[in-house]
Amino acid sequence: MSAGHATEVCPGIWSVRLPIPNASPDHVLVYAVEAREGLILIDTGFKTEECRRTLEAGLASFGARVRDVYGIVATHLHPDHYGLAGTLQEQSGAWLGMHVVDAALVPAWYHDQEALNSATSEWLRALGAPGVARQGLAEAMRPWDPDVPLPNRLLADGERLEYAYGMLKVCHTPGHTPGHIVLVARDAVLVGDHVLRGISPFLSTLLDPSDDPLGGFLAALADERLPVGALVLPGHGRPFRTLGERMTELRSHHDRRLAEIAIAVSTGDEPKTAWEVAQDVHWFRPWDELDLFSQRIALGETHAHLLHLERSGLVDAVNDDPYRWTRR
Ligand SMILES: [Zn+2]
Ligand SMILES: [Zn+2]
Repeated sequence: MSAGHATEVCPGIWSVRLPIPNASPDHVLVYAVEAREGLILIDTGFKTEECRRTLEAGLASFGARVRDVYGIVATHLHPDHYGLAGTLQEQSGAWLGMHVVDAALVPAWYHDQEALNSATSEWLRALGAPGVARQGLAEAMRPWDPDVPLPNRLLADGERLEYAYGMLKVCHTPGHTPGHIVLVARDAVLVGDHVLRGISPFLSTLLDPSDDPLGGFLAALADERLPVGALVLPGHGRPFRTLGERMTELRSHHDRRLAEIAIAVSTGDEPKTAWEVAQDVHWFRPWDELDLFSQRIALGETHAHLLHLERSGLVDAVNDDPYRWTRR
């Protein structure tokens, strides 16, 4: 699957691989779905000229153009999936669809950088990140291009979109973002970042309106509406067919991490902040060797696990400032 050349991955669904510079994964996959009115695009790529040109070339490789796109669905609000939406909408007049919960978060993530910075600082403070680290952690993410439009079609769980070979059924799969969706097609399932191979999609609690994002994710990893034997079309990586196994692996991964975090909370005499607990967890490299962005992701993951343990009655929150947790 080379950049700029589309592949028909199953009847009526084409994938186009777009580059993400200086990042891992280094690409995102956009899917063009044939429908009576034209194409429905699932995800868009980043808002870069290179993504735009590569997408154009990909569509052209099977005789389509951006102006054939009549609808754009973002599996979630992240900029590799939604960033180019405004540019494509201008060129095509397409509607922009997103789950109602992620759509409500677009202004907070994209449109007001100052408000986002202060929400991030407050979140870091409440989780116990020390003052010296907070500014670096807050700035550890490149700001998202504020020039993205609001979605003008709000999608709900269970909604169906017609395409050339049947229906795309919208399944709300919260976790990676609170309004993440998966689309179930006739022969395939377009999973966005809900389930990837080789990567455990990260969770965070920053700006997440749910009080248990991990609980929502674990439930979505057991969603029986997802066809476990179907061809999986992910947002990153090659298509695969082991959705059931991968969902089980991801649930086990989080079970192990929950156990590790419960132990970390109970080690020592004093209640611990999420920041303190995060240092005791095994990440892909030791805490002190993680770059600031990875530390920030790890802190959000730790917090999501702590909230789930609290919900499950395994740890108690001490409503201190910052928050602390203790073994029940
Ligand atoms: Zn994502
Ligand atoms: Zn992604």
